[in-house]
Amino acid sequence: MSAPTYDLGKLHGGLRLQAHKQMSTAEPIRQVPVPEQLILPLAQHAGDPAQPVVRIGEHVLKGQLIAECEGSLCAPVHASSSGTIVAIEPWPVSTRHGDSAPCIVINCDGKDTAIGADENCAAYDNLVPEDLLGNILLGGIAGLGGAVFPTAQKLMQATTCDIEYLILNGVECEPYISCDDALMREYGREVIGGAQILMHALHVGVCYIAVESDKPVAIQHLGEVLAEIDDERIAIKMVPTIYPSGGEDQLVQLVTNREVPSGGLPSDVGCLVQNVGTAAAIYNWIIKHQPLISRVTTITGDGVATPMNVEARLGTTVGDIVRFAGGYTENAEQLIIGGPMTGKSVTSDRVPLVKGTNCILVLSQTPSVRPEMPCIRCGDCAAVCPVQLLPQQLFWNTCANDEKKMRSYGLIDCIECGCCDLVCPSHIPLTASFRTAKARIREQADEKARAERARHRFEARNDRLERDQQLREEELARQKETARQAAPDAIAEILKRKQDAADED
Ligand code: SF4
Ligand code: SF4
Repeated sequence: MSAPTYDLGKLHGGLRLQAHKQMSTAEPIRQVPVPEQLILPLAQHAGDPAQPVVRIGEHVLKGQLIAECEGSLCAPVHASSSGTIVAIEPWPVSTRHGDSAPCIVINCDGKDTAIGADENCAAYDNLVPEDLLGNILLGGIAGLGGAVFPTAQKLMQATTCDIEYLILNGVECEPYISCDDALMREYGREVIGGAQILMHALHVGVCYIAVESDKPVAIQHLGEVLAEIDDERIAIKMVPTIYPSGGEDQLVQLVTNREVPSGGLPSDVGCLVQNVGTAAAIYNWIIKHQPLISRVTTITGDGVATPMNVEARLGTTVGDIVRFAGGYTENAEQLIIGGPMTGKSVTSDRVPLVKGTNCILVLSQTPSVRPEMPCIRCGDCAAVCPVQLLPQQLFWNTCANDEKKMRSYGLIDCIECGCCDLVCPSHIPLTASFRTAKARIREQADEKARAERARHRFEARNDRLERDQQLREEELARQKETARQAAPDAIAEILKRKQDAADED
């Protein structure tokens, strides 16, 4: 194994932020017990919600499929433990699909009985890549770094490109979040095993595991596993601890010195980026046949008694996890799902842990809302923007709701990192306005796509009805013809019977 290297491209802008990570990394990952009740949203991923395949009252086993894919961008959902389905209903959530979404509710039976494993699944290198990708789809895996893009679809898209580098993203640049660090410290074999599976599936010859230089324990553990398995194709790349170096495009730039084009994907420059947790989830599914039913997450902040990293079943409520971590401190004030820069503030801890929950942050202070002042054109926001946008001009265009100009100023490339907000002396809520504008544009695009899908469904239904009608008419004509041909014989038979009866008389 080669030693970790530093030969890097350059990241534009970014900020060095206080890490606040030591409080949650002092102890190894702890396992949260299976709760009495699990709440599993049907939409824990980007794309269309999965559709339930279970009924209320049905008993399910751990790892059993409970919601399957419908639509081209989706990830199935599996039961995180054994128990009885007691409801399929809207529940408070903190996902990209809003504050409330349909969930499958399981009352756990406490036995945690697993569905039987498929003995053949470990021999992945005998599978052709297409079959392997099809298998990954069944595991319910979505990007665990936060974007929760269904992994199988991302990989399928990548097969249409010439991928030269697989980059495993272990760069956890946002303050407080340390779940990937914890995972790399303890689950190096799973992370690297996942990389090998991905390389086989995509015919990729080089993999870089990108880790920040301030994570020596993770780097050492990964290095030991690499030395043990002796796979020369995989190497560790250390990147500087600058926020947001873990953004997908920023990481590609740092690791390969290639620039992802505006509106493009890393695959456009021969790269595929996967979070280290996603790689471990792929390993667990393909090698151990464990679908994605749990994840490592960070529970931290000065509003929780014992900050730590935990592994918990998906569907466990945030409240259950906080209780496991010793409960709230007296002065706990704000609950955030995610990190302080990109996370979402929630008002209820009934929301469940989902595939994308990398952090539960409890703070003792809600940041005060500073009065907004006019822009003084200092240019600080542009200086720190990692995407090299002009946030102040973008902001004016979002205020004017001028979609054409928003696009031309690169709104779609904004990664909502929040760097511009942090440095703006006028306290202008730049990121919030970009997030809202992007959501509006996305919603319009989704609406258009939904209308298009509805039109296709309507046309397909009409075609089917027409076909059925035609088949019915053909069948009727065929029966009539058969009857017509059979008629002389039938009449002759009736006449013969009549004649026989008359003769007997
Ligand atoms: S939030 Fe968007 S505009 Fe602001 S610094 Fe980040 S990428 Fe640039
Ligand atoms: S940092 Fe704030 S004040 Fe300075 S140019 Fe940007 S928006 Fe204007």
